[in-house]
Amino acid sequence: MSPLAHPAEDPSTTGSPGATHRVTPTVHAPGGQPGDSATTEPADSRSYLLNNGTAGRYRSTVTESVERVSATIAATERPFTGISVDELTPTVADIDLEAPLHDPAAALDELEEVYLRDAVYFHHPRYLAHLNCPVVIPALVGEAVLSAVNSSLDTWDQSAGGTLIERRLIDWTARRIGLGEQADGIFTSGGTQSNLQAMLLARDEACRRELARADAPADARRSDVLPRLRILTSECSHFSIQKAATLLGMGAESVISVPCDENRRMRTTDLAAALERCRRDDLLPIAVVATAGTTDFGSIDPLGEIADLCDRYGTWMHVDAAYGCGLLVSRRRDLLAGIERADSVTVDYHKSFFQPVSSSAVLVRDHTTLRHVTYHADYLNPRRMAERRIPNQVDKSIQTTRRFDALKLWLTLRTMGASGIGELFDEVIDRAADAWKILHDDPRFDVVVEPQLSTLVFRYVPSADHDPHLSDLVNLHAREALFASGDAIVAGTVVDGRHHLKFTLLNPETTLEDIATVLDLIAEHAGSYLAEQPEPALSAR
Ligand SMILES: *Cc1c(COP(=O)(O)O)cnc(C)c1O
Repeated sequence: MSPLAHPAEDPSTTGSPGATHRVTPTVHAPGGQPGDSATTEPADSRSYLLNNGTAGRYRSTVTESVERVSATIAATERPFTGISVDELTPTVADIDLEAPLHDPAAALDELEEVYLRDAVYFHHPRYLAHLNCPVVIPALVGEAVLSAVNSSLDTWDQSAGGTLIERRLIDWTARRIGLGEQADGIFTSGGTQSNLQAMLLARDEACRRELARADAPADARRSDVLPRLRILTSECSHFSIQKAATLLGMGAESVISVPCDENRRMRTTDLAAALERCRRDDLLPIAVVATAGTTDFGSIDPLGEIADLCDRYGTWMHVDAAYGCGLLVSRRRDLLAGIERADSVTVDYHKSFFQPVSSSAVLVRDHTTLRHVTYHADYLNPRRMAERRIPNQVDKSIQTTRRFDALKLWLTLRTMGASGIGELFDEVIDRAADAWKILHDDPRFDVVVEPQLSTLVFRYVPSADHDPHLSDLVNLHAREALFASGDAIVAGTVVDGRHHLKFTLLNPETTLEDIATVLDLIAEHAGSYLAEQPEPALSAR
């Protein structure tokens, strides 16, 4: 293959008669039904390609889709229609993918039936379930631009200014965190990938140092070190840490779970003890993972104390701020005090920066650690390019072809400013604090912790002397019934072995009245479930 065969070079040829060298029409379904191709004239297929000749068609087609989505959003009265899997499955299954409609409007009509009508809408104020935010319009503009231009951020010669914009945003984020002059990082597909990359870098740094020790056997190899590697993280941390450990060949058993206090923050006395045990047992902790905003409770581990322990034991400190990163632009920045001492940080702009999925990054204090994911290919990013200081972002990423997600954040910052984002996040944190008071004073519910961020974990309690098992069933039922009604969507989780309900507030449009209404709905569903139970089930065991 020619080293110049990059997709980014195609647009430069579309303005010329160069189109004539595309003699073979694209065949979309090589194994498709006979007869299909007869209805698809090559000229027709080519008219769907975006280029200088079809710019008008692009504009009208996309405009129509935007109009439909905006009409749908304007008319949405509930976050969900409550449709069941069994009802929706045949609608999707019955679509004949071998029989194209040859009409964008018809395809959108069909999409209305199979998706748009029954989608789950995160912008609705009574969507209170997971860490999904309503999205800001400047980011949607970015999404439209980035997919049309379709830059790929692996190399300079596929992105040009896109690479520079991404690098500016990485530097901006690193500066907000306070990682210092040597910091760097990369955009990723999400917190899971950011955590994976951080653990990979931490593992490879730990192995490098271990094998370079003066007393290491001359023939020592990585595989000798592997079984001794450990990651320490709190029992409330995200499961992507376990996944990363497994993917990195360390096994799930390499993750040491550190207990949390009653506010669901890592107990640093237990962390100190675990680090000490590792030292005694000749184990090698590659990283301590602190969570700045646990997924269930929004609790923030004591970052400063954890940094002190990491200093003392010479251990890499990773901060998973997938959820709490919005604090970087909020008036509550001090809640993240200590994050500036991290070796690596995960941020999910698609959670608390109100960005559409995907938008995430992993940042590192020392840019040289990113070399653990640097590989050179002659066709893509040969070594001599690095020597000429051509900025190929693929040198820092575990992906190759990569979306220009950074553009969404760029247009958001250029349009609204960082403080605009921070205000939105502060508003939902304020709302959660007020909602906590409502829950705390409501005898129908038990609430687990007073939130630092914007989640509330609580449980409907049938009566003072209720059977906890019955309470589990009531809460499970209330959540499902609410989902099936489509009136509101809440999440569920298990705390100390008991089923609870969870609100994740990320929508500033959610009012306290919305929250009070949803609590009433939960109580109603719980009440009707209890009313259906035979008498003995209602009394305590
Ligand atoms: C959501 C979350 C993740 C995973 O991020 P994705 O973007 O869903 O991959 C990791 N850590 C924490 C604390 C999270 O809340």
